[in-house]
Amino acid sequence: MSGANVPAVLILLGPPGAGKGTQARMLEDRFGLVQLSTGDLLRAAVAAGTPAGLAAKTVMEAGGLVSDEIVLAILKDRMAEPDTARGVILDGFPRTAGQAEALDRLLAEAGGRVTAAISLEVDDAAMVGRVSGRYTCAGCGEGYHDEFKLPATAGTCDKCGGTAFKRRADDNAETVRARLQAYHAQTAPLIAHYRAMGVLETIDAMGPIESIAEGLGTIVGRVSA
Ligand SMILES: [Zn+2]
Repeated sequence: MSGANVPAVLILLGPPGAGKGTQARMLEDRFGLVQLSTGDLLRAAVAAGTPAGLAAKTVMEAGGLVSDEIVLAILKDRMAEPDTARGVILDGFPRTAGQAEALDRLLAEAGGRVTAAISLEVDDAAMVGRVSGRYTCAGCGEGYHDEFKLPATAGTCDKCGGTAFKRRADDNAETVRARLQAYHAQTAPLIAHYRAMGVLETIDAMGPIESIAEGLGTIVGRVSA
């Protein structure tokens, strides 16, 4: 929310592998924002035993999905805490257009609105290549890549000299492609919602981490000023 006494509310959108977590931490450090992920919010509210936290606990213990209403109540409580005075970065919420509208109503009650929804844009084909080529040394965990980072001596780890390597089962092209498709399908309504509100910002997330961070910093500095 931007306004007299309402903090900035940023929504960071990006597919798995786009470096969203790294970028969110950078924004926290640089702008004093607090990243709020749905999972962390729920755990903290349950632990604190707030009314909304207790309601969430009951639902989760019954194996159910916590309703948007409860998540919003927890978010509202969390945003009233002093450490969020500079603003928040929402991660994992909203996920649907309905949740986005409910969030808009919640913020409007406090005289605010979403400051910006920033979409980390990736090139799907390049992402598939980037993620699916990853592997690590089984001995020391050093990361390698079929295309971008091969060991100096083929089959031997640069760091520890080990010769055994491993790949994560879900780092294959097919799985990465499916993850990206699911992401786009899920995010398209949110992108449309925030574009219509005039708060959508996009950033090319295929470059080096530092240049993405710089671009993001420029956007956040501008919208939260
Ligand atoms: Zn190694």
